[in-house]
Amino acid sequence: MIDYHIHTNLCGHATGEMVDYVKEAIRCELDEIGFSDHLPLVDGKEKNLTMLPDELPNYVSEVMSLRKSFPEIRIKLGIEADYIPGNESYIKELIIRYPFDYVIGSVHYIDKWAFDHPKELSGWDERDVNAVYEKYFELLRKSARTSLFDIIGHCDLVKKFGHRPSTELTKDLIDTAKVFKEYGVALEINTSGLRKPVNEIYPSCEILKLYREYDIPIVFGSDAHTPDDVGRDFDRAVSLARQVAYEEFVTFENREMKHQKLDSIGNSILSL
Ligand SMILES: [Zn+2]
Ligand SMILES: [Zn+2]
Repeated sequence: MIDYHIHTNLCGHATGEMVDYVKEAIRCELDEIGFSDHLPLVDGKEKNLTMLPDELPNYVSEVMSLRKSFPEIRIKLGIEADYIPGNESYIKELIIRYPFDYVIGSVHYIDKWAFDHPKELSGWDERDVNAVYEKYFELLRKSARTSLFDIIGHCDLVKKFGHRPSTELTKDLIDTAKVFKEYGVALEINTSGLRKPVNEIYPSCEILKLYREYDIPIVFGSDAHTPDDVGRDFDRAVSLARQVAYEEFVTFENREMKHQKLDSIGNSILSL
């Protein structure tokens, strides 16, 4: 089993040493993990959102050194980049400098509003929920079309606080699935939604079912911001994938996708 969405204390809002995340992954009997801390935003450190550009080399070398120290588990070098229209060349310039195995593209901002940040919760009161959803899925499609990302992160994060649209999402979802397919991105089954007010995995069963119809590959991620969260609720993530008839998941190495059988996941995961 893999956990491809793991943060570190470099971003300013996660706790625990990187080595503790690795030890927890070994304890959970994961075969492979990937660190995917927040790629620097220009003012990210100041707001405790991301690491600083000059911290990126340390992050990369720490992952490399953990890889050597813990040969019993495969450790991948990933990164989670915020997709904000206009910052494409900034992202590209940063990611080509390092040997990333994969890049997760995440939409956390609609215009300049961090819709998933607890401090910006009041922003929801000023907006039409349907319009927010529409804009969110449009940004997801745009993020996939940049070809900068291998994986699209938590692809219905917009539901985090429980806001739900009153209109059908079907057209937006189908359009998004088609774009994901066309650009060859994977999506993640991210269990952190179970620890948030919505209390639901990202994406929902309904959305995942549709992506399955379009044969969009999946990875698994906990979005751990503390070592205890590594591999958390993966029994539920795997059963969700199976429920909508996924038979495979994917891994990445040097930004190349590899297919793995879901059957290969041992029963150990079910007793985490
Ligand atoms: Zn974070
Ligand atoms: Zn995220």
